[in-house]
Amino acid sequence: MKAARAMKAKKAKKATKVKETVRAARPSKPAKPGKKPGKNLEKVRKAATTMRAAKPARAKASKGVTRAGVKPRRQEPLEVRRARALAILEGLRRLYPDARCELAHGSALELLVATILSAQCTDVRVNMTTPALFARFRTAADYAAARLEEVGEIVRSTGFYRNKAKSIVSLGKALIERHAGEVPAAMEALVTLPGVGRKTANVLLAEWFGKPGIAVDTHVIRLTGPVWRLTNETDPVKIEFALYELIPEKDRAFFGIATIFHGRRICTARRPDCAGCALNAVCPTAFAWGGVRPAV
Ligand code: SF4
Repeated sequence: MKAARAMKAKKAKKATKVKETVRAARPSKPAKPGKKPGKNLEKVRKAATTMRAAKPARAKASKGVTRAGVKPRRQEPLEVRRARALAILEGLRRLYPDARCELAHGSALELLVATILSAQCTDVRVNMTTPALFARFRTAADYAAARLEEVGEIVRSTGFYRNKAKSIVSLGKALIERHAGEVPAAMEALVTLPGVGRKTANVLLAEWFGKPGIAVDTHVIRLTGPVWRLTNETDPVKIEFALYELIPEKDRAFFGIATIFHGRRICTARRPDCAGCALNAVCPTAFAWGGVRPAV
C-alpha cells in the first residue's frame, strides 16, 4: 500500500516536471518559416515524446476497470436478457394493468406541452400548473401568438421556466408553419420541433397515438440498466434501441410506462422495497440495494 502510494507520487512528480519543461521551453514567438528549430523547440519535442510514451502505459492500466476500481459488468447473452425482460414484463402487467401516462391532458398538443414542462419536474407539479395554461392557450396558434413573459409566469413553478416558455411558444410557431397547427404522429417530424427530443416524442407516440416506443427517462435508465441488467448501455438512445431487441413491439409502450410506475412506487432510487416487490423472484439485484431478504 505504502509502496504503491510512493510510486504514484513519483509518477505525478515526473509528469509535473515534464509539463514544467514544456512550459519553460515553449518559444515566445513562432519560428519563422524555413528557419532551423532552435534549442527550445528541440526541448519541447523531446518533452512531448516523453509524455506520449507515458500515455499508453496509463491507458493499459485503466483498461477494463472503472474509476472506482470496479470491473464493468459483462453483458449476459441476448437470450438470457430477453427471457428476463419477458418475465419482468409479465410481472409489470400484473402489477400495473392500467398504467397510463400521469400527465393530465386532453389532446396531443396538451400532452406535448405537459411533457416539455415535465423536464426536471414532477408530474404532480406539472398537473398543478397546466390547468391555467390550457385554459388560456388552446391551440398551436394561441401559443404562437403568446407573449413569452405571460407563458413564463404561468409555468414558473415547473423550473427552468424561461427556457420552457421559449420552447412552448416556438413549438406553437413551428406547428403552424410546418404542420398546419396539428401535432404530427411520426418520430422524424416530432424530434424536429422545438423542445422535443426522443423521450418526449416517445411519450406522445405511445400515449396518444398508440404507437410502439419506449420513453427512456431516469427510471427506465436505472431499472433496465443497473437493477434489471437488461442492457449495459448508458446513453438513453442506445438504451431505447437495446430494449427494442428484448421487448416485443406491441408491449413497448406499456413496458416504458409501467417501468416508470415501478420506479416511482416500489423500486425507488433511495429505498427500493424489495421485500414488497412482486418482481423480486425475477429481478437479478433483488435485495442488493438494501432491505432484508425474508427467510424462506
Ligand atoms: S426486487 Fe428490489 S431491486 Fe428488484 S425491481 Fe423489485 S424493488 Fe427493485
